[in-house]
Amino acid sequence: MSQSISRRDALMQLALLAGGSSTLAAGPTRAASEPPHLMPSDPTAVALGYHADATQVDPKQFTNYKPGETCSTCLQLKGDAGQPWRPCNLFPGKLVSANGWCRVWVKRP
Ligand code: SF4
Repeated sequence: MSQSISRRDALMQLALLAGGSSTLAAGPTRAASEPPHLMPSDPTAVALGYHADATQVDPKQFTNYKPGETCSTCLQLKGDAGQPWRPCNLFPGKLVSANGWCRVWVKRP
């Protein structure tokens, strides 16, 4: 009897480990209520030249880009300063990277 309980306990621990490893493999998760991150492949993002990492912007392709410009200094960015992903007036329902950039960047006064 005690052997079957031990086996059951072992199987339960394996199941818990398997569940935990799949969570780890999926990477960090966002809070369920947090809007999704804007993907650079989003059609509107493509149209506006959005990059999640402003250092990856090609200044030959986006001639109005100046090094150092990021969403974190843009007039259109909302939300709390210091947060890595924040709402933007141009992309409702999505979060943009504070380190991102798009062609309509306007310096926050
Ligand atoms: S409008 Fe400003 S905050 Fe929004 S994605 Fe473009 S650069 Fe970033």
